[in-house]
Amino acid sequence: MLYTLTYTNDGIPEGADGFTKFWFIKIRPECKRKPGHLGIIAHEQVHIQQFWLNPLWHILMYGRNKKYTIACEVEAYKMQLLYYPYSESKAGYISEDFAPSISRKTGVPAAEIVKMFGNL
Ligand SMILES: [Zn+2]
Repeated sequence: MLYTLTYTNDGIPEGADGFTKFWFIKIRPECKRKPGHLGIIAHEQVHIQQFWLNPLWHILMYGRNKKYTIACEVEAYKMQLLYYPYSESKAGYISEDFAPSISRKTGVPAAEIVKMFGNL
């Protein structure tokens, strides 16, 4: 999988730790010190895979089509969760962090998005 990873604050939306466009991943430098650092990278790598699966489709649909965007984000956050310590509450991350983040992006209520994560 081809991608370029850069640590920078440039071009990353407010409130986000990372951002991916085409095959470029940008991660905030302060994330290197966070325990979930590798999870953030894994999340962005999923978006790279989604891009390379069908580049034109992904460019056209991501951010424009709610259903597609939610499916992409749920897949990426599920991967990210694999990097969190077992002692942490996965349900807590989903309901307090991940679902609200997807909700802000898509306008779909967070409670509906939580259901899409299923039982982890
Ligand atoms: Zn994402």
